[in-house]
Amino acid sequence: MVERVEIFDTTLRDGEQSPGASMNVNEKIQMALQLERLGVDIIEAGFPIASEQEFEGVQKVAAAVKKPRVAGLARANRADIERAAKAIEKAERPVLHTFIATSDIHLEHKLRMTREQVLEKAAEAVRLAKTLVGRVEFSAEDSTRSDPKYLAHVVKAAIDAGADVINLPDTVGYTTPIEIEEMFRNVIATVPGSDKVVFSCHNHNDLGLAVANALAALRGGARQIECCVNGIGERAGNTSLEEVVMAMKTRQNVYPFETGIVTEEITNTSRLLGNLTGLTISYNKPIVGRNAFAHEAGIHQHGVIASRITYEIMTPESVGRSSNDLILGKHSGKHGLAKRCADLGFTLDENEVTELYQRFSVLADKKKEIFEDDLRVLLATMRNESFETYSLEQLRTSGSDPAMALVKLKRGGEEFFDTAIGDGPVDAACQAIERVVGVSGRLQEFNIRAASPGKDALGEAHVTVLLDGKSYYGTGASTDIIEAAVKAYLSAVNKYLALQLTA
Ligand SMILES: [Zn+2]
Repeated sequence: MVERVEIFDTTLRDGEQSPGASMNVNEKIQMALQLERLGVDIIEAGFPIASEQEFEGVQKVAAAVKKPRVAGLARANRADIERAAKAIEKAERPVLHTFIATSDIHLEHKLRMTREQVLEKAAEAVRLAKTLVGRVEFSAEDSTRSDPKYLAHVVKAAIDAGADVINLPDTVGYTTPIEIEEMFRNVIATVPGSDKVVFSCHNHNDLGLAVANALAALRGGARQIECCVNGIGERAGNTSLEEVVMAMKTRQNVYPFETGIVTEEITNTSRLLGNLTGLTISYNKPIVGRNAFAHEAGIHQHGVIASRITYEIMTPESVGRSSNDLILGKHSGKHGLAKRCADLGFTLDENEVTELYQRFSVLADKKKEIFEDDLRVLLATMRNESFETYSLEQLRTSGSDPAMALVKLKRGGEEFFDTAIGDGPVDAACQAIERVVGVSGRLQEFNIRAASPGKDALGEAHVTVLLDGKSYYGTGASTDIIEAAVKAYLSAVNKYLALQLTA
């Protein structure tokens, strides 16, 4: 019989807390709904005690999704646990995830506690969590650098206290496949009651081993994998969801497990995350990178045309990439557009279809062929704009050094104009925006990429703007790259403004 492996997605928690991935509450909900379509078993929605906004995000995600369990993270103390329990109380099936470090390095330098104290605190935390939430996961942070005997004691204490899931994280991305397999095998063999709980792995990718370590953990007895879409997360990231899932699916003879993942939703999910956070992925990223299924070499192309299995171990369709990516042209109707959106997994209401069609027609006038990615960018931008405070109505730039820019912005029914001088047209336009809005930011990162092939491609700009000491991410799309950049800047400023309002 094929055993089931649970996919615990932490894109909204571990992923979101990584620099460059912050999302506002609405973006978190959009992402959570897509994760539900993707078929993840658990969504870790955030760390509720971290801030008011984080709490609200977890609460809203808990209420928005129906199928997956929703987890909230808490350190092993009463305040954290009560706050997390409150945030997930509306979830259909809540999970309280509490953790404490078990390595001597962390005990000495971070917690300043003895092994006995940590053991007691872990048990106490699980007992308290169990009185508040039906399902409790306990994580022994930095498991892979913990003394194996002591780790086993802590796991036993957590199980005795009522934990349902035991997670043994490789917090610093230090372990290797052989070691992690052994760690799981040992703990499961030596701790009484192990057969009554689910063991989980949570790996970081500092040495590029996160996916390999997750697969090894399965061989050691783990049956839950914590991972993130596009492998985002602290530092070098977490186990990449799409890679670990497709490794199992493609190599069933080695990893005879099944998951609930609808693999055809992988591409949509990956792109949505990219659009929401501005974290782009490299072209050669497995599964979701632009070139992951591109056969360039003539001899490969010849082979693939003759028979796909010569060089293809999985099909692009199996991960939701259509080989015929070209979707719509100038003459496509509104109905066709709505249908294509539905095929891509986006449910739009009547008003959204009308609005999207208008934007689509404008784009189709500038660009002969509209690709899936163009449509995704249009959609993401449109949905973002509904939360926006300011929209860009007009942009004019001239010169380059110095450059002059004139911008017209709209907020509600009101229009605002301003001009500024800067080092280049983008800088000048951003300064004009700042004069209108009354903020002052600093551009930290700036990337432009083509959303589709061709000389008339839609440019997608991703920016990071430092405002009031915090980074905000913005994306913008246009066939004109200056306009794309300015829209991206404005979307970061709007995010900042929106967060000021909700704070
Ligand atoms: Zn982590």
